[in-house]
Amino acid sequence: MRTAIISDIHGNLEALQAVLKDIEKQRVDRIICLGDVIGYGPNPRECLDLVMKMQVCVIGNHDYGAVNDPEGFSAAAERAIFWTRQQVERSDDPEDARRRIQFLMKLPRIYSEDKVLYVHGSIRNPINEYVFPDDIYNRRKMERLFMMIETYCFQGHTHQPGIFTPDYSFLPPDSFHYKYRLTEPKAMINVGSVGQPRDEDCRSCYVIYEPPNVEFRRVEYDIDITANKIFAIADLDPFLGERLYRGN
Ligand code: ZN
Repeated sequence: MRTAIISDIHGNLEALQAVLKDIEKQRVDRIICLGDVIGYGPNPRECLDLVMKMQVCVIGNHDYGAVNDPEGFSAAAERAIFWTRQQVERSDDPEDARRRIQFLMKLPRIYSEDKVLYVHGSIRNPINEYVFPDDIYNRRKMERLFMMIETYCFQGHTHQPGIFTPDYSFLPPDSFHYKYRLTEPKAMINVGSVGQPRDEDCRSCYVIYEPPNVEFRRVEYDIDITANKIFAIADLDPFLGERLYRGN
C-alpha cells in the first residue's frame, strides 16, 4: 500500500493543486489528510471540495474552530477563522454549504490502521497539542507520547517536517536526504505543511509512505497568486501572505 500523507493546507488552493499534481505522478493507492484543510488561506471552499474526495481526513484545530467556537487562537488567526466560517457557510448553492459543514463536523480526531496512527497534533491531544522539534529536550513529554503509540504516528500541526525517534532525536528531512527507512519500533513522523510551510523552505511539503519507507517531497507552487489573494482580503492579515515567501 502506497499512501500520500498531506497536512495543513490552510485554504491555499495553488499549493494543494501543485501537490496533487505531484501525487498523481507517484502512483499512490490513496491520500490521507491530517487536517487544517482551512484557516489562514483565501480558498477554503475549493480546498474542502478537493479533500472531500480523499480516502481519509482527520480534524485539525482550524477545521474545528470553523464549525465550533474558536479557542486559543491569536487575534489574526481568529479573524481569519471567522472569515473562513463565513466563506464555508455562504455559497451559491445552500446544498454545497451544507455538505461542507457536515464534512467538517464529522471528521474524526484519530484514524488508526494496522497499529499506525494518524492525527493532526499529537496522540495525547489530537486536535491541539504541538510536538515541536525542540520538544526532544522535554523528556517527560516525549516519554508520554512514545508510551501512547504502538508503532508509528503520523502528525502535522507545527508545519515543521521531520521524524522523532525513540532516542529523543528529531531528524529534519534534509538530514536523511528526504528518504528514510523506518527501522525503529516506534516513531512520530511530522509530514510538514502543504499550504504554509514553517521550516524556512517555502515549498509545499508532504510524505509518501510505503512501509517501511517514508519519503518527504517538496513541491514548488506560484506563491504570488496565493499571497495576492490574501492581500486583497481585509479580514486576512497581510502577514499571512508575507510568511508564505519566507516559509516560516
Ligand atoms: Zn496548521
